[in-house]
Order: sequence, then C-alpha cells, then structure tokens
Amino acid sequence: MTDAAKLRQKAEDQLKNQQSFKKTTLTEQELIKIIQELEIYQVELEMQNDELVTAKEKAELAEEKYSELYDFAPSGYISLTKDGRIVELNFVAARMLGTERSKIINKNFALFLPRNTLSDFNLFLKNIYTLQVKQTCELIIETEGNLPMYVTIDGIVSRNKEICLLTLIDITKRKVTENLLIEAKERAEESDRLKSAFLANMSHEIRTPMNGILGFAELLKEPKLNGEKQKKYIGIIEKSGALMLNTINNLIDISRIEAHLMKVEMRNSNINEQIEYIHTFFEPEANAKKIDLSFINSLPSHEAIIKTDREKVYAILTNLVKNAIKYSNKGSITFGYVKKGNELEFFVRDTGIGIPKDRQEVIFERFIQADNDNIKTVQGAGLGLAITKAFLEMLEGKIWVESEEGIGSTFYFTLPYNVDPEVKKLAEIVVSNVGPLNQVNPITPNLKILIAEDDEISGKLISIYLEEFCNVVFKATTGNDAVEICRTNPDLDLILMDIQMPGLNGYESTMQIRQFNKDVIIIAQTAFSLKGDQEKAITCGCNDYISKPINKAKLHSLIQKYFKQCFN
Ligand code: ADP
Repeated sequence: MTDAAKLRQKAEDQLKNQQSFKKTTLTEQELIKIIQELEIYQVELEMQNDELVTAKEKAELAEEKYSELYDFAPSGYISLTKDGRIVELNFVAARMLGTERSKIINKNFALFLPRNTLSDFNLFLKNIYTLQVKQTCELIIETEGNLPMYVTIDGIVSRNKEICLLTLIDITKRKVTENLLIEAKERAEESDRLKSAFLANMSHEIRTPMNGILGFAELLKEPKLNGEKQKKYIGIIEKSGALMLNTINNLIDISRIEAHLMKVEMRNSNINEQIEYIHTFFEPEANAKKIDLSFINSLPSHEAIIKTDREKVYAILTNLVKNAIKYSNKGSITFGYVKKGNELEFFVRDTGIGIPKDRQEVIFERFIQADNDNIKTVQGAGLGLAITKAFLEMLEGKIWVESEEGIGSTFYFTLPYNVDPEVKKLAEIVVSNVGPLNQVNPITPNLKILIAEDDEISGKLISIYLEEFCNVVFKATTGNDAVEICRTNPDLDLILMDIQMPGLNGYESTMQIRQFNKDVIIIAQTAFSLKGDQEKAITCGCNDYISKPINKAKLHSLIQKYFKQCFN
C-alpha cells in the first residue's frame, strides 16, 4: 500500500470512529475536505511513482544497450590499473587474448605481449596516466596456440584517474599485407640489383672473348706474320670462341630451367663410360696446365648401368671437372664415384685455389657470382654450379663441397642407384659370354662415313675433322640424297646428320634410314639452342648427337665411343 493510500485509510478510519463514538475534534466537512485533499495527493504520488518506474525501466534498457555495445563492439575494450592489471574487458578483447573473460580478469596485460615489446608497452601505459591525453601504439599480442596478432591500441585514463581504458583494433590483415608488400619490394630491388650486376658481368663475359677474337683476327691480316705467331693467334681466337660458346650455352640452360622447359629423359646409361669419356675429353686441357687428371670407377661396367638422364649427368661432371681445371694451377684432379647404399656418390677432387668458407654455399646460387667483387679476377659467369645444382635436383640427387683455401676442393654429388633389373640380367649374361659391355661395336679401323650437311663451310669443317680416320667420305646436301646414299651403301659405318636440311630434314631422313638399316651409327649435329633438338634426334633413331659449333675433340671422343679401335 502506498503512503497516500495509508493516509487515506487512516482518515477514513478516524471518520468511522468519530461516527461510532460521536466524539470528535473536527467537523464532518473538515474531514471530508481532508479526505479530498488526500485523494488528490494520492493521485499525484501515483503519477510520480509511474514516472519513477518508467525512468528505472529506461535506465535498465540503457544499461543493457551499453553492455551489448561494450561486449559485442568490433574493437576490444580493456580496463587496466596503473600497473597493467586487467580489471574489465569485453568479449572481443577476451577473444583477442585467446581465452575466456573470467580467466583473464586480474591477470597482467603484459603477459600477452612479447618480451622485447614490454618496455614500449610500459612507456605507453605510463604516458596515459602522466600526460592524461589519448595515447596510441602498435603491438603484437602473442597467445598460446595462436598466430601472433598485430593490434593498434588507443588508451585514455578514466575520470577518477585510477583506471585506463584501452581500445584494441586487430590490424593483422593490414600488417601481413604490408609485410608482404615490403618483402616483394625488397625482392624486386634485390633482383633488379642482381640483374644489373648480372648484365654487367655478361657484358664482360661476352666482350672479353669477342675482344680476343676480333683483335687477333685483325692481327692475322698482317702479311709479314710468321707461322709461329699465326698459330698462336689462331689458338687465342679458338679459345675465346670456346669461352663465349660456353657462356651462351649456360645462358640457354639457365633460361630453360627458369622457364621450366628443361625435361628429364631417363634412360639406361653406363656411368663408367661417361667417366672415361670425360677423362679422355679433358685430359689434354689438364695436361696443358701440367695437372694430372685421373678417374676411379668403383663398380664393374655391367653394374654401372643406371637409369638416369645421361646428358644431365654428362653436363654435371663436365662442369665440375672443367671448374677443377679452371681453378687449379698445379697438382692433380681425381674424379669418380663410390656406391653408398642406394646411391652413387660422385666426387671431383682438386688441389687448386680452394673456396673460402663463407662462399661455399652461395656458389651454388644462380647469378650469385655476378654480384661478387672478385668476378673480374676469374673467368666465368657464375652459372655453372647453379645449373649443376638444378640438374641434380631434377635427378633427385644433391650436391655439396668441402674445400680449404690454398689446399683444394672436393665437390660431391649423389645420384640414386636405379638399376633396371632387366638390364642388369642382360649385362651379366653379356659379361659372362662376350666380354666387356662397352665393346658393343665391331672393330672398324677405316670408316666409311656419310656427311649430310647443306652448309658448305660446315660440311668442309667436318670432313677435315674426320679425314684422319676414314677411308671413304660421302657427302649429301639434302635429306633425300642422304637416304639414297645410305640405301646404295649398306656398309656405311657412320652418318653425321645435319638436322635442318632442305627437303627431308635430319629427323625424317633418320627415320627413313632406320626402316632399312638399323646398324649404321647416326650422329645428329644439332643446333644446341633449339629446344628439344637432342631429345628428338634420339627418338627418331640417332645413336647420339653433337651440338654446333662442333668441337673436334668432342667429335673424336664420340667416334671413339662407338669405334674404339680407330684410335689404337
Ligand atoms: P664460374 O663460371 O664462375 O666458374 P660456377 O658456377 O661454375 O661459375 O662457379 C661459381 C664459383 O665457384 C666460381 O666463380 C669459383 O669462385 C667457385 N668455384 C667453383 N669450382 C671451384 C673449384 N674447383 N675450386 C675453387 N673455386 C671454385
């Protein structure tokens, strides 16, 4: 019952008493008036009461709204004491700190920050209280099991100056994007720097031999030049041409690797034969520097046939042996392999200048030498080892170096020992019945050779290269002629087949010849720069290939491989 109702009740009770006992101090009129006034008073009180109820309801609603806003705001809100203790926080902040609200209350906010940022945070907190204006900072929140979160934090002190309120906004996405952009920019700058250095180095690599070729060709014109000088100048021109060709071949390889155009052709290859071939090829170059070049084949030939990409293994060994000679001025170079478990471990050991410890890893990176200050002291574009490493990755092998400055280097690489069981069985039968596997061809001391070549100068060059160990040379300038000569001379031993010829090209001619003559050895002469030439030549029936410009020693080694007796 309200107060007004109680008063009214009291007045009415008094009136009733007065009527029943007939003794009163107030007249009836007066009492009625009081009652009327009381009624008005009661109405007023009730109205006030309604207003109070409405105001209370409004206040409750506002509080609810505020709680909702506080709890579900897009930002995190945390109230901290001066020493960083968490007094209150909303759901978003709790989520940012990676656990429930109840578990965070009273913990120190610093627990969620990396150690190295604590001093920044402490200064930020101190400034909020001392300067009493809004402070802002960026921090990383680290919580167990979660990725680090980048946050912007605004902080203000409360009215009573006892608490400060922090507003946290998650800026991880922005930060990650920013970091990616910075990384991309740095990478672009780095690659631009390497590209410029690489171009400068390439220019050096091409201009230097070009200088030799043009300069000494000019000197050769001198009419009074004696024979000895002539020979010397021609030697320099030859060497410069070979250097330039090597640079160009490396460039083509690296661009094919970068463009993912380099394919792997797995075939059965005799590793011993490859090692012997490389030894024969490089021996004169090593001897010219008075370096002893030797090899160790640790498996018998019939066990040395593995399934791999022969050309890539050849390129890898060539690069390493070439470098060993290039970076040695004395002593010896030994190369070979040993079988270790399911792998063959190859080595190329030299007693050359060695490699400083801090460069032993970077030398395998492409273009890296272009960025090296020492570049001008040695010949080379710094691509050989990058190509070697890329080839080994394609063949599931790995490469490393052990080296000491002034003592020498040993480059190691591995290849899986993939042996085709059929080949192994066959090889064992051949070994027990016929003799060593590498004597696959009949002994042919004086070869009958066909040179298929439409370019007159190239044809002449090959016939000069071959004249010392052939008795009959046929020449064809078209593919059709080549097929015809081969048909009418079934005892031909060897065909040097150009690929780009008028009429039937080298591939088509080889395919036609293979229909009636499976025995003749066909070596394709391919323009190395044309993608897929080599692979295609083998697929069409050629036994081997040699890239143009043709290197005499390489051609001889190739012929020796198929007709060993010619060189005895
Ligand atoms: P380059 O064309 O410069 O020889 P490579 O990629 O083949 O390029 O080699 C990279 C660098 O590694 C060389 O410039 C040289 O400094 C070093 N290097 C490679 N092989 C040897 C070695 N056998 N002895 C000493 N240094 C070597």
